[in-house]
Amino acid sequence: CGIVGYIGDKEATSVLIEGLSRLEYRGYDSAGIAVYDNGEVKVRKYKGRLSVLADNLEAEILTGKVGIGHTRWATHGEPSDRNAHPHTNVAGNIAVIHNGIIENYMKIKEWLIEEKGIEFKSETDTEVIAHLIDHFYEGDLLQAVFKTIEKMEGAYALGVICKEEPDKVIAVRKDSPLIIGLGEGENFIASDIPALLKYTRNMHLIENDEIVLLTKDEVKIFNELGQQMDREVFHVTWDA
Ligand code: GLU
Repeated sequence: CGIVGYIGDKEATSVLIEGLSRLEYRGYDSAGIAVYDNGEVKVRKYKGRLSVLADNLEAEILTGKVGIGHTRWATHGEPSDRNAHPHTNVAGNIAVIHNGIIENYMKIKEWLIEEKGIEFKSETDTEVIAHLIDHFYEGDLLQAVFKTIEKMEGAYALGVICKEEPDKVIAVRKDSPLIIGLGEGENFIASDIPALLKYTRNMHLIENDEIVLLTKDEVKIFNELGQQMDREVFHVTWDA
């Protein structure tokens, strides 16, 4: 039920855990992160409180400057470690977090199983997204995400990272909240402003059907036709 993403020079793990803790009020049943660490996309996800994830991450630290984090409110598949987000493709080089529901996931899942022989690791609607991005991936993550969302019906806020393009986070908003936090040499995504107030008060509010490409120095917002959109900086003056 909460999304956070980071790219910059800080340790992503601590930013993600801090951000997710500010979203705990939304309610959730599990929590997880994916961090680009030493040439790999590493995922850690657990059923239960954020503290379960945080405790596990103390035992085994993930280091890396880009990552995505999620607290889940299960809609498809029971609360469990395997159903917790992030979800990955078969090779594990693409990681996805998702708030919302993919209405046509069953049809996509059947196609992925029958045509591509994919073995699913979870019961979620979300996992199809990671496999679809993989299917469409031809060296450009942003283009693969565009092609993927054309196939998806439902409500979603997404965060995506991939091993081949570790200098990027991609986010999508369709009928599920998403904002961007703007820093100096760092940028953020989140489902709600309080998640980021410790780090920045400068935000971009993302509109429905927009796709965002973040690097540490740049944020580009596109509409669903792929046209780049201008956006004012929204300065937050209140405290959470
Ligand atoms: N539908 C997804 C799931 O059940 C995402 C739920 C959420 O928004 O946290 O895993």
